[in-house]
Amino acid sequence: MSNVVSKEVRLAKRPVGMPKLEDFEIGEAQIAAPGDGEVLVRNIWMSVDPYMRGRMYDRESYVPPFQIGKPLEGGAIGQVVASNSDKVAVGDYVQSMMGWREYFVAKGDTVQKVDEKAAPVQAYLGILGMPGMTAYAGLLRVGELKDGETVFVSAASGAVGSVVCQIAKAKGCFVVGTAGSDEKCTWLEETAGIDKAINYKTCGDLTKAVHDAAPKGVDVYFENVGGEHLVAALENMRPFGRLAMCGMISQYNDTTPAAGPSNLIYMVGKSLKMQGFIVSNHFDLLPDFIRDMSKWIGEGKIKWEETVEDGIERAPNAFLNLFTGGNFGKMLVKIGPDKAI
Ligand code: NDP
Repeated sequence: MSNVVSKEVRLAKRPVGMPKLEDFEIGEAQIAAPGDGEVLVRNIWMSVDPYMRGRMYDRESYVPPFQIGKPLEGGAIGQVVASNSDKVAVGDYVQSMMGWREYFVAKGDTVQKVDEKAAPVQAYLGILGMPGMTAYAGLLRVGELKDGETVFVSAASGAVGSVVCQIAKAKGCFVVGTAGSDEKCTWLEETAGIDKAINYKTCGDLTKAVHDAAPKGVDVYFENVGGEHLVAALENMRPFGRLAMCGMISQYNDTTPAAGPSNLIYMVGKSLKMQGFIVSNHFDLLPDFIRDMSKWIGEGKIKWEETVEDGIERAPNAFLNLFTGGNFGKMLVKIGPDKAI
């Protein structure tokens, strides 16, 4: 046994409806010394993501459910503090799926080195990581975006949505996005440079608001929210439009199945194409993503925001904030010092 004690966040009970702080508990674990081929990592940053809500249900999905009494899992960036592996050395910054805890031991070949000189390390949980890649694959491959088209994005100021908006702008598109506050809408128009941001909480009739913003209609809808947003998108789609179905956060806490969109019949008359996707099925695009995203960032075409909760004890609060719009851009938790050694 090593003498490292690691705080960790465990699932205390399966949330019903909107998760509550009591659904989580903070515990401590004694961390074993790394064995042959293993590394000891101290986490610095961890990600909270909407998909984690799905893993809190006890049901089969594309990722297994979290177990009650066990630590949660998710994307994290940390620094290697002890290594018996020839894959990574002490001091290396690494990415893993071992978030929600301060320290962990793992095989050296199960963590991925990140370049701390290329970007702030937490960017590998956002713009240069899974959310950025989701935006890239969803918009370009699933949405089959063509230069100059009209794009509608829901949850447009979030980690995924904000990247979708700016990739579309880099491709010369006309972009309309929704967000839940005037502050987020101002950022979308003035910093991210989209053509029209709609505050969906105050705009009244969302279908009309999208029509007013894009009177000629929408070629690609990037779906993050579901419900009224999907209805408004279907109403405004142009013939042969594509709907890239990334997520439906408005339904993740539903205790009874939500009603389907009332106007799905437009799929037929407008010859629409709707495709859901999971980012991990598109990792073959990773080299293209890194190449294009590095270029766009270098050209100043992509801006991003982060909301940071401080300390592992705040991780449940950070997660809950995703469902109330408490985050602006990528939601992160800082759980260790910038330099662990
Ligand atoms: P965000 O950074 O966008 O955070 C979530 C945002 O959703 C909130 O800030 C809030 O913004 C908005 N929101 C929450 N509840 C509602 C609601 N009831 N109605 C409307 N908006 C709501 O999260 P991510 O960028 O990480 O994820 C965005 C979407 O992408 C999610 O649906 C997620 O599940 C999905 N996703 C899918 C992946 C895939 O592989 N398919 C991979 C990664 C993410 P606001 O203030 O605007 O309301």
